[in-house]
Amino acid sequence: MSQISFFLSSFVKKLISSFEKIIESQFLNFILFQELNFNTFQIHMWFSYLVAFLLTWQVFCHAINNPSSEEKQADYSGYSLHRFKVDTSSNTMEKLESYDMELDKNTQTARLLIDIWAEPSKQNPHADILVAPEFLEKFKALLTREELVTLKMIEGDVQSQINAERHAMFRNSIRRRKRSLKSWKDFDVNSYHSYDKMVEFMKLLSEQKSDMVELIKVATSSEGRSIYGVKIHPPGGSPPEKPSIIVDAGVHAREWIAPAVGLFMIRKIVDEYGRDPQVTANLQKFDWYIMPQVNPDGYEYSRTSDRLWRKTRSKNTTVNRWCIGADANRNWGYRWGEAGANRTPCSNIYMGSHPYSEPEIRGLKEYFTWQIANPMVYISLHSYGQLLLSPWGYTHERTENYQDQQNAAKEAAMAIKNTTGVSYSYGTISEMMYPASGTSIDFMQHRGVPYIYGVELRPTDNPNSFAFNLPPSFIRATGDEMMAALNAIGTHAVKVKRL
Ligand SMILES: [Zn+2]
Repeated sequence: MSQISFFLSSFVKKLISSFEKIIESQFLNFILFQELNFNTFQIHMWFSYLVAFLLTWQVFCHAINNPSSEEKQADYSGYSLHRFKVDTSSNTMEKLESYDMELDKNTQTARLLIDIWAEPSKQNPHADILVAPEFLEKFKALLTREELVTLKMIEGDVQSQINAERHAMFRNSIRRRKRSLKSWKDFDVNSYHSYDKMVEFMKLLSEQKSDMVELIKVATSSEGRSIYGVKIHPPGGSPPEKPSIIVDAGVHAREWIAPAVGLFMIRKIVDEYGRDPQVTANLQKFDWYIMPQVNPDGYEYSRTSDRLWRKTRSKNTTVNRWCIGADANRNWGYRWGEAGANRTPCSNIYMGSHPYSEPEIRGLKEYFTWQIANPMVYISLHSYGQLLLSPWGYTHERTENYQDQQNAAKEAAMAIKNTTGVSYSYGTISEMMYPASGTSIDFMQHRGVPYIYGVELRPTDNPNSFAFNLPPSFIRATGDEMMAALNAIGTHAVKVKRL
């Protein structure tokens, strides 16, 4: 693909320069002799360049739409996205979820039939569900049986949205070319990047701002990628028992806005320290640990092969050798496999063969347990739905510090509203939706962290409903509002815990 881009751009350059030569000579002719004298050879040459360009353009477009075998993309042609109203106290969503995958006995390949993209909450009782074309009739019959009315079809062909995003990324990559960063300031936080580029940025930042930023390695993925994050502190370091704010992102591969917001926040804290009073105050009170991409295998797979990939990429050869990966946010050991757990390896919410079966989650657990002395706030970034979800996930019971967590969430939602005007809802997982066990937020609650939120970022009510394909132009606003939310939670913690 890069070779085609190279040939294409060199053709365009030749085309433009030959055209410029013709115009230049004719301009001189006109100025000097007041006449136009077209050379037929020049015109022929230029015309043949134009034909060659058009042919190459066709090859290029064909290559984008029909990638070679190693780049073969999962195809979601005909899959449609539906939004409908559903009562959160019913078990409709669990029933629908049980149909999620079908394993073809002959080819031993799994095919997605139903996929829940956004779950209903009390404040926003709508579910977004992706439906395979062959399952659409059955899906409609199920809704009728449950006495549900489809509100609207958001997208008739999800593949066209995926294609549009891919084309935009190709255009962007041609424009930017692949060159290494010279300064951390050259990193464009308003784009979606490869995992390697994210690591390059974090390494460079830790080298060039070594008085404030430390590169940390938290785990190694199934496919051998090092999972990095950064620890940010005021220049000169911090005492060892200083409270911390922890942010992770990218747990679910296809939720691209989450790592982009994580990176945006890293840059914002380093940039604004000493300038923005809230950022400065919160960095003086807390050390920040930000891990912007904790599922790099899944993320890269979603970039190159299957845009809607959610899980890790581990191979469960002992359980099922055809279905890859587990849901990294069902794999934590605390109350693993209880309410809302899925034991089917092909499922998109498969909890894994045993607690901490995924090396990414094992590494995070070890790091959180042994390397962070005084965790005060924990945020896990996901998309989408605009929600701040607190524990518990595995039970409807309330935590001991329920009210304080909700008070902080209320302040965060207000800060978001004041920053961008967007509404986020808040509540516990089990009261806002239905139970989920084996999540990182339950683990953190069990560990005694006072303020914990699983955040579903944008979008929810955007008329275009980009779902997971949120254009990069939204990164800045989503990042700004999340920074405001974390600053508000930090300020609340300082006040209540007298830090
Ligand atoms: Zn998620």
